Amino acid sequence: MNGLEKKLKQNPEPVFIGLILASLLFINFLVKSKMAFLDFYFLPIIAIGYFMGKRKAVLFAFFTVLCVCLLALFDQEAFSSISRDSHNGLNLAVWGGFLILAGWLGSLSEKLKQELSLSNELREKLALEKELLKASNDRLAEYTNGLEERVSSRTKDLEKAHRELELSANTDPLTRLLNRRGMADKLDSEKFRYERNKKPFSIVLCDIDHFKKINDNYGHDAGDYILKEVAKLLNSASRKPDTFCRWGGEEFLALLPETDLKGGAILAEKLRSTIEKHDFIFHTNKIPVTLSFGLCEYDETMTIDACIKLSDRCLYLAKEAGRNQLIPKLSSL
Ligand code: GH3
Ligand code: MG
Ligand code: MG
Repeated sequence: MNGLEKKLKQNPEPVFIGLILASLLFINFLVKSKMAFLDFYFLPIIAIGYFMGKRKAVLFAFFTVLCVCLLALFDQEAFSSISRDSHNGLNLAVWGGFLILAGWLGSLSEKLKQELSLSNELREKLALEKELLKASNDRLAEYTNGLEERVSSRTKDLEKAHRELELSANTDPLTRLLNRRGMADKLDSEKFRYERNKKPFSIVLCDIDHFKKINDNYGHDAGDYILKEVAKLLNSASRKPDTFCRWGGEEFLALLPETDLKGGAILAEKLRSTIEKHDFIFHTNKIPVTLSFGLCEYDETMTIDACIKLSDRCLYLAKEAGRNQLIPKLSSL
């Protein structure tokens, strides 16, 4: 069975109608006629084809043709009233065929109508999906923005907490100066700088004289007050790049960048006299405070630890020599 035969078996109706119409129209072409009521009957057939489908239209057309044929056979008078004078058997057949064609044509739009409604349905569905997608997108964007804000604020909080933690890990809580840990980093970087540019730097160790007596005479709180005041004075009386730390109980270490022994001695003397002249008043008690200093200039023959030890040795000598004074590390020492 070839393709055409298969198609004909599946859907013979259009071919059948086409064949009838082709032959009948050819004959009708030869016949001259005037319009009559029956000539307009194709209009309801087209409407039926459109609204009810091909099968019903064709069936309806057959019925109509049958009825008109019966009318033509049994009631010539009634038949003449609705048809043209010239209607005979042949013209009736043409008319019948035309009617069937009208039904079939009307039904053609049925498929179109179905496809149109399907495409409308799909378009509506698509629009709905689009709206849903847009709403989801908006929600997602809102959520992402919120998330970004939360992440950035959390990151800021964490950074702040980290900075505070680092600061507290490197800071002495009483004097707010660096502690040993914080100063170790500064000393290391100063040493690296020295290795690059050979600019001298010095280390000063200073210690409050007879601090134990201050505690004993005025109380521990007075001792704390003195420690805080001394820290403030050391900072305010020195240059900006100079860094102080609380090295021990009542002992402070100063790192003096770009400062040789001579410069360090000038600064230490300035600090000594500032402390000596300052009025330390705690609960109406004026407490005399002095500091002893040991000073050492760093050079490549020593380590940082060795430099600190030499400063400490000088400090010890300053204490030995009567306190409230500076002993710099001279080559003879
Ligand atoms: P010197 O002149 O030889 O340095 O004598 P000194 O009394 O200052 O030295 P000593 O080492 O005998 O005493 C230091 C005292 O410092 C003992 C300790 O109780 C006190 N001290 C250490 N840390 C603190 C502190 O944070 N607060 C107070 N109030 N006292 C402290
Ligand atoms: Mg002391
Ligand atoms: Mg001490």
